[in-house]
Amino acid sequence: SDTNETIGIDDLPIREELKGQSPYGAPQLDVPVQLNTNENPYPLPEPLVARIAERVAEAARGLNRYPDRDAVELRTELARYLTRTGGHPVALENVWAANGSNEVLQQLLQTFGGPGRTAIGFEPSYSMHALIARGTGTGWISGPRNEDFTIDVEAAEAAVAEHAPDVVFITSPNNPTGTAVEAEVVERLYTAAQAARPSLVVVDEAYVEFSHRDSLLPLLEGRPHLVVSRTMSKAFGAAGLRLGYLAAHPAVVDAVQLVRLPYHLSAVTQATALAALEHTDTLLGYVEQLKAERDRLVAELRAAGYEVTDSDANFVQFGHFPDAHEAWQSILDRGVLVRDNGVPGWLRVTAGTPDENDAFLDAVRELKKEQD
Ligand code: PMP
Repeated sequence: SDTNETIGIDDLPIREELKGQSPYGAPQLDVPVQLNTNENPYPLPEPLVARIAERVAEAARGLNRYPDRDAVELRTELARYLTRTGGHPVALENVWAANGSNEVLQQLLQTFGGPGRTAIGFEPSYSMHALIARGTGTGWISGPRNEDFTIDVEAAEAAVAEHAPDVVFITSPNNPTGTAVEAEVVERLYTAAQAARPSLVVVDEAYVEFSHRDSLLPLLEGRPHLVVSRTMSKAFGAAGLRLGYLAAHPAVVDAVQLVRLPYHLSAVTQATALAALEHTDTLLGYVEQLKAERDRLVAELRAAGYEVTDSDANFVQFGHFPDAHEAWQSILDRGVLVRDNGVPGWLRVTAGTPDENDAFLDAVRELKKEQD
């Protein structure tokens, strides 16, 4: 009808801060080699697929009822996983889970941010932090980084002291640069944030299983305003599952329940995540292969004459291009989709299977020859 054509978003009575904005998301293009969204390239192994079917069938028999609102079994298993791999004992009451770590972060900002409050991140970093801030009415402050994309601790401490934000985001390893953060940096920013406000410090460890460094989980000890956020989207190869979680002081877990929707985690999601956790060791085996491929990408890109940022994640930032978008297009024209995150001069490639990475390396070697 007429109305369908003549009314756009900005004609609607939407919130001022949403006007003129576009939704987050990388282009989903039908290209042979897709290395643009930091997914795990390995499909779940067949025995795990069978186990998911079994556990979901079991859950299906009870779908007339609401799911376990507190996801007790799942949080217990996530706590067990963190305790086993994170170098720090974590229990059920320290863990909360939601539909992807994006929802975890949203719940944190709904609880600790909101209108009249602010959050800071050190950019370039994961752009959803700023977008979830906007979505929850939280003011956003863009903090600094060094030229090499590490966090400039003194400048970051000064920014925290100046703005006294309610929430501080530290992404380690950082997306899109791949940069891991030293424990000492988190300790210092936590101290600065407590002196300034006190505020909640969120360490986003979405990619930590791929890191050369240990998890920052042990920093939770004695820091009740620290939160470590995790996801099953990357290391567990389950981006389609939508399961993120956090570890923190039990009071933080109680606090986010003030904003979570009742029964937000479906019984199907809980059953699937539990099945995946039964296969943790197999899935972490794929992580080891991906780490080796990530290191190979770094070495081969450097050998081909590119600048590469040291990476602790399942992706690699490379450049430096006079026009990153043009380079992105040339690589795409060769059948390989990488990511232009809008960091001037840089692109990001996700570590795929060895064949996918070879296709990518062929494309960028060709591009280099063309440019020289
Ligand atoms: N944090 C970071 C740093 C990310 O890169 C991503 C995914 N791109 C997420 C959180 C969110 O992942 P998910 O919602 O799938 O858990």
